[in-house]
Amino acid sequence: TKARVVVVGGGTGGAIAARYVKALDPAIDVTIVEANPEYTSCYMSNWVLAEMRDLDSLTHGYDNVKARGINVVIDTATRIDTEGQKVLTAGGKSLPYDRLIVSPGIDFQWGAIEGYDEAASQVLPHAWKAGPQTLLLRDQVAAMPENGLVTIVAPPNPFRCPPGPYERAALIANFCTRHKPNAKIVIYDAKDAFSKQGLFQAGWERHYPGMIEWVGGFETGGGIRRVDPAAKTLHTDFDDFEADVINVIPPQTAGRIAVDSGLTDDSGWCPVDYRDLQSTLAQNVHVIGDAMVSSALPKSGYIAASTAKVAALAVVDHINGREPGAPAYFNTCYSLLTPEHSISVSGVYEAGQTDDGQQTILPVGDSVAVSPADADDLYQGREARYAASWYDNLIDQGFG
Ligand code: FAD
Repeated sequence: TKARVVVVGGGTGGAIAARYVKALDPAIDVTIVEANPEYTSCYMSNWVLAEMRDLDSLTHGYDNVKARGINVVIDTATRIDTEGQKVLTAGGKSLPYDRLIVSPGIDFQWGAIEGYDEAASQVLPHAWKAGPQTLLLRDQVAAMPENGLVTIVAPPNPFRCPPGPYERAALIANFCTRHKPNAKIVIYDAKDAFSKQGLFQAGWERHYPGMIEWVGGFETGGGIRRVDPAAKTLHTDFDDFEADVINVIPPQTAGRIAVDSGLTDDSGWCPVDYRDLQSTLAQNVHVIGDAMVSSALPKSGYIAASTAKVAALAVVDHINGREPGAPAYFNTCYSLLTPEHSISVSGVYEAGQTDDGQQTILPVGDSVAVSPADADDLYQGREARYAASWYDNLIDQGFG
């Protein structure tokens, strides 16, 4: 009988993993279980806020995936039976597997900020899963007064897309320079520092002087404890803040299916062996993308793609009785300051050991770097164009 590989989640990681398994060994029967009939990428969803893209251009169906001989089941996985090696779905299906690849992305810790539950997100959008939430945030900014106040509540580490909240601030500011010139954007951050901080802060001051304020270290300063959606108010232990638009990006965990199926540890994320991305908690299960335990690898689309390829190679090797080779992981991530100015971070990583012998992820040499602080307009303009082709290439790997 044919070996069966099931992939839970047909997002960036899942779609790419399925494609590579099928390409590496066409004899394997590959099935994706995906909750939604179309995938809307989170990456570039901030571009929608600056009127650079519409959501349709970020939305991709599964016709090309199916044309490659991959089965696509549009259904919600409700449980992974790791003993019986099958995936159970809301639609009543039971999908047996020899190897499973799990790429469900993230879920939110509803209630971690008091009052911020799923219902509250209909008033105070997170827009951290792209789709209707992105449009809600865009429309709220468009509808606020000309001197409106936008607040972004940035989450503690680890979370999906470390530079994302700060790119979002820049691109909302970009919209405001055209339509709400006296607007202000304040970021209340649970952290003391953030990704590409120096480059972002210099970019904000240059392009939007005085418009964006970052209030960091909020965890130690009391933090946003509670939200009141009806009054559009944020509460700390010491103070209350009102705003016209409140974008709450809540604390996160691995996608719920991973939590419910016993694939997460106390951190809320899925521990894996970094040599082949097998779960350390279940046999014949590989976890990729954002759901993995956080390490030096950021929770980015590019890392989802890179881990997808590592897992696909390892799965095909295991099925064919071969020992997987030693992998490397690659990240490249662009953040726009304006439509014509971008900064980036990139890096190469490998599995290694800490001083006390624990398995970990280590950067290779000094490969992890951000774009130069003194980059001129030509350089940053090129990076903005690379960002657009980066998008096309990444989408093509899974959905092309
Ligand atoms: P996802 O792409 O989210 O895919 C998960 C899929 O699993 C979804 O399709 C979901 O419907 C499905 N699913 C979940 N649970 C189930 C279930 N039980 N049953 C069936 N299906 C299920 N990354 C970059 O590299 N560059 C960027 O510029 C960038 N910008 C970003 C900007 C924003 C605003 C945000 C929010 C994120 C950004 N990211 C960026 C991060 C990137 O979107 C994620 O890291 C990436 O999507 C992770 O891929 P994934 O496969 O782990 O999860």
